[in-house]
Amino acid sequence: MTRAVRLDCCRAERKWKKDKLQVSFQMLSPPQGLKSILMLTTSQSLFPALLSLTDEPNWSKYPNCSGTRQSPINIVSESAKPNNNLSEIHFENSSNIMSIKNNGETVQVMLESGVKISGGNLSGEYDTVQFHFHWGNGSSVPGSEHTVDGKRYPMELHIVNTMPIYNRNMTQAAEDPTGIAALGFFIERYNLLGNVSLSKYYRYLGSLTTPLCNEAVVWTVFKEPIKVSKDLIDLFSTTLHFNDSTSQLMTNIYRSKSSDMAAGLRDSSHTGAVCGFNLPCDAHNDPWLQCWFILSRFGAAAV
Ligand SMILES: [Zn+2]
Repeated sequence: MTRAVRLDCCRAERKWKKDKLQVSFQMLSPPQGLKSILMLTTSQSLFPALLSLTDEPNWSKYPNCSGTRQSPINIVSESAKPNNNLSEIHFENSSNIMSIKNNGETVQVMLESGVKISGGNLSGEYDTVQFHFHWGNGSSVPGSEHTVDGKRYPMELHIVNTMPIYNRNMTQAAEDPTGIAALGFFIERYNLLGNVSLSKYYRYLGSLTTPLCNEAVVWTVFKEPIKVSKDLIDLFSTTLHFNDSTSQLMTNIYRSKSSDMAAGLRDSSHTGAVCGFNLPCDAHNDPWLQCWFILSRFGAAAV
């Protein structure tokens, strides 16, 4: 890292420390707290019917999973149609993290009520319910669900939101063709952390990517990846197990089936809001701190 970059990083840290994100960061005392959560084994009693993404060949028993608007898709960038109605996505309010769980399928972070998204030509506001990750096997085997021109990124972050009338009830929202709005961020390996523009994204109507595969999701997939260290990407596939600590490591947590689709495109040339992922200086070499920072960034949702 050059001296200039290090200075930039520290400037970002000073700004970050003024931010209310610091509150949630301290509240859950990372990184030890996060480490124990990620190492936590699956609670079978809480999740009796695990539908592992590694069981994908057997999903034919769920009729929705062979529907006509299934997610993920391969986005064909040349065919993406610019759409002026696709305005910038906004995050509103903030809330605390309610729980972080290894649910045997992924790492899922449930948020208390309060965070909402709007804009982006969605029919109105949506309530943010949870976010979770998809990954492959370390930084060498990519595991994003969506692909762009056939490129699969190392990881993908999904932020799941429901229409207010469903009161954050996913089961009910999943019965409505636009009951759920999902935001997808690619996560890519990089030596320096950057920002993600919320003004550049692809849009299509799709589905949940796990059974019952309900075709109820308005998908927004951001063009620019969140850039993190190789160590952070490796952390997921080397720490999490499907079941107890003697069981298989949780790898290849993504739905691999996808079809080509020409999505709608917003690619604003003027500078829009950026979703800041600048890390404090001391986090650059610590994957646990990086991971915690990303989680708390969304926990406080001051994007
Ligand atoms: Zn997902």
